[in-house]
Amino acid sequence: MHLGLSEEQEAVRRLARDFVDREITPHAVAWDRAEEVDRSVVKKLGEVGFLGLTIDEEYGGSGGDHLAYCLVTEELGRGDSSVRGIVSVSLGLVAKTIAAWGDEEQKRRWLPGLTSGASLGCFGLTEPGTGSDAGNLTTRAVREGDAYVISGTKMFITNGTWADVVLLFARSTDAPGHKGVSAFLVPTDTPGLTRRTLHGKLGLRGQATAELVLDDVRVPASALLGPEGKGFSVAMSALAKGRMSVAAGCVGIAQAALDAAVRYAGEREQFGRTIAHHQLVQELISDIAVDVDAARLLTWRVADLVDRGLPFAVESSKAKLFASEAAVRAANNALQVYGGYGYIDEYPAGKLLRDARVMTLYEGTSQIQKLVIGRALTGVSAF
Ligand code: FAD
Repeated sequence: MHLGLSEEQEAVRRLARDFVDREITPHAVAWDRAEEVDRSVVKKLGEVGFLGLTIDEEYGGSGGDHLAYCLVTEELGRGDSSVRGIVSVSLGLVAKTIAAWGDEEQKRRWLPGLTSGASLGCFGLTEPGTGSDAGNLTTRAVREGDAYVISGTKMFITNGTWADVVLLFARSTDAPGHKGVSAFLVPTDTPGLTRRTLHGKLGLRGQATAELVLDDVRVPASALLGPEGKGFSVAMSALAKGRMSVAAGCVGIAQAALDAAVRYAGEREQFGRTIAHHQLVQELISDIAVDVDAARLLTWRVADLVDRGLPFAVESSKAKLFASEAAVRAANNALQVYGGYGYIDEYPAGKLLRDARVMTLYEGTSQIQKLVIGRALTGVSAF
């Protein structure tokens, strides 16, 4: 067993670290306060190749394997989870899904823009009434000649108000169960599609989360991604890899918590010596360190399975479950190390905790990950 990185992977990690330290970390607090990242960062991410990882070069991608993708995602999560989320959705959930399920025309139309950062994608699955039970979605797509006419509402859509294309899931046939769901690539400037940014989020404040309302949105039949009625499979395949990406982002949060806690413990003095001398502070720090390592190893294992073409969905759920809970614990422990200073946003721990909290909710809550793992172990679906 070899747990080290190749020279190429080390180089990608160094590149990502430098990029994050230069272009993201210095601005993260200001973007959080302003509730918007400077969107020029998306173009820069495209220029350095981070929006095209694992995508073929002929479609504008930068190649690379999924471990490299996780390394970059971890670094982005270390710098600012808002930026990490923008990439995880536009590249991880949208571009990769187009690469996996799209026909030649769809790949040529959408991938060069998404991989360069000239355009952004969003993933429209959740609705006001259907979150965990996503297969029960109610958005409808009715076939009319060579077109589909789509109506419904999507909720909590990351990148929603900034995106140029939405990978949208709608019920297109009356067949019962999941088979009625189809996936569509809908340009966001299509008449009948309106968007509203949701403000006041606890964390991930730098990214746009939106409600999308579709009122008789007409798209050509060529907008269908994958076979009609296979949309739920499209969504689940996207989310299985997406969970790996969320897990990698959580490793980044936990690493940032560790770096901050160690630094502060070496500077802050109480009882005549730095707080690093106090055993209970060392306990907080060592708990964070173990969470970082365990979350990272679980995440790398998923990437390795994906790269070797082996089944990975359940391992991805395990990594996402553990890493998201670990990121919350790590950020909370770091805040404790900072004492009262942890509670104000001039210091990093509070933002890390706010950003970490949603990771146990989206792309399947912790409870849903446990049901996925439990189903695989017992053969019984408890959904
Ligand atoms: P519910 O499904 O209503 O769950 C409420 C509670 O009940 C949870 O604790 C849940 O674990 C529990 N529960 C539900 N069913 C069961 C069960 N069978 N057994 C045990 N417990 C259960 N969605 C998208 O489609 N695209 C996006 O880009 C996107 N981005 C998001 C960004 C943010 C910031 C947020 C907050 C959400 C985002 N989401 C997105 C939506 C997210 O995926 C959902 O919020 C999530 O799936 C949970 O759905 P829900 O909020 O409706 O909660």
